[in-house]
Amino acid sequence: MEIFHNTQIAFKNRSDSDLKKARILFRLMGYPFLTGLTALLAKIALRLRIPIGWIVKPTVFRLFCGGETLNEAKAVVDRLATQNVRSVADFAAENRESEEEIRQVINEITASMDFAKANQAVPFSVFKPTAIAPPGALEEAGSAGDKSPQVEKFRENFRYLCHYASERGIPVMVDAEECHYQQIIDDLCTRMMELYNKDRAIVFNTLQMYRHDRLDYLKQAIGRAREKQYYTGFKLVRGAYMDQERERAGKMGYPSPIHPDKESTDRAFNDAVVMCLDNIDITSLFAGTHNEESLLLLMERMKAANIQNDDPRIYSSQLYGMSDHISFNMAAHDYNVAKYLPYGPIRYLIPYLIRRAEENRSVAGQSGRELHYINLEARRRKKHS
Ligand SMILES: Cc1cc2nc3c(=O)[nH]c(=O)nc-3n(C[C@H](O)[C@H](O)[C@H](O)COP(=O)(O)OP(=O)(O)OC[C@H]3O[C@@H](n4cnc5c(N)ncnc54)[C@H](O)[C@@H]3O)c2cc1C
Repeated sequence: MEIFHNTQIAFKNRSDSDLKKARILFRLMGYPFLTGLTALLAKIALRLRIPIGWIVKPTVFRLFCGGETLNEAKAVVDRLATQNVRSVADFAAENRESEEEIRQVINEITASMDFAKANQAVPFSVFKPTAIAPPGALEEAGSAGDKSPQVEKFRENFRYLCHYASERGIPVMVDAEECHYQQIIDDLCTRMMELYNKDRAIVFNTLQMYRHDRLDYLKQAIGRAREKQYYTGFKLVRGAYMDQERERAGKMGYPSPIHPDKESTDRAFNDAVVMCLDNIDITSLFAGTHNEESLLLLMERMKAANIQNDDPRIYSSQLYGMSDHISFNMAAHDYNVAKYLPYGPIRYLIPYLIRRAEENRSVAGQSGRELHYINLEARRRKKHS
């Protein structure tokens, strides 16, 4: 796929030493046993409060995260912006336990919204529902139309963040979580869209297209928005919790909510891209993927529909530290690209880093793709030195 192949553009901002470190890390992540063992040790260290920042920060943290604070992340935002790549500063805390911790997370998220407001290179804000939910709230809400104080507190936090983003005119993306939490999140997103998406998409829901019910959901959500006359915004992803979902469904004896194979997930993702483009008059699309075929399809369909590359309703996004060959090359062709840039205290980001390591644990998969392009660039640099 020609557009993605220019490694000089992809790694322009990376020194030889950065590339060497990335190569070592992706190679190590390509050994599933090693990745599994490291993830287990990290989880144990986290539980026992054993400090591991000294080993994590200069290695995987540096590869996949913007820093421990917004201020540190700003340096990365500025560096990406030199190549027309924007950022979504993502305070990547998950599952906070005390009210005090949740309050701190909400303050951090509103600070990231102010940061977006002040930085043209940061066109979106984001939050993860589990980070603002009192313990047990999402589990309870999944089981009934619950009105317990925990669930009400979650709703209040959710509404507050959408309102804060809307007041500043900063679009906000709500990350998708495991299926059994998702109903209350979907319901809140729908209400917030109706309230705040009157002139354009401010609130974006995330659809995990590995779920076999999501294409229908998308169709209905767009239909509802047409009927009630508001805009919709969707971040489309394939989904990050496939193993947990299948395991839970097996254990609890209900049918798996996930497509039976990768091909059906791919088809659903691509169909959702097309559905969003077909409804672009009222829908904004944020395609969160490292999949070249899906992005190629997006670009072809945009061209066929005479949609400008930099149409503000369409973004593609990759995670920081991954698929730079896609992000920087698309940006060089004027497509809107925003890297998801997680930041926060290292102990908060361990679950995120474990997911990244697990995602990269096959040389036949993502880590192989990363290594392929890093090796091509290393060879190109050697030839021209
Ligand atoms: C900007 C951005 C934001 C994200 N936000 C979220 C989020 O809010 N919530 C979330 O859950 N994830 C999120 N993700 C992660 C995402 O869901 C995927 O896990 C990840 O991007 C890999 O999918 P892909 O499309 O990039 O690549 P690909 O390599 O093409 O696809 C891998 C994905 O395909 C699916 N898959 C693989 N094997 C099978 C199989 N046998 N059967 C069915 N499906 C299969 C899985 O979803 C797997 O993750 C985000 C990713 C990005 C880039």
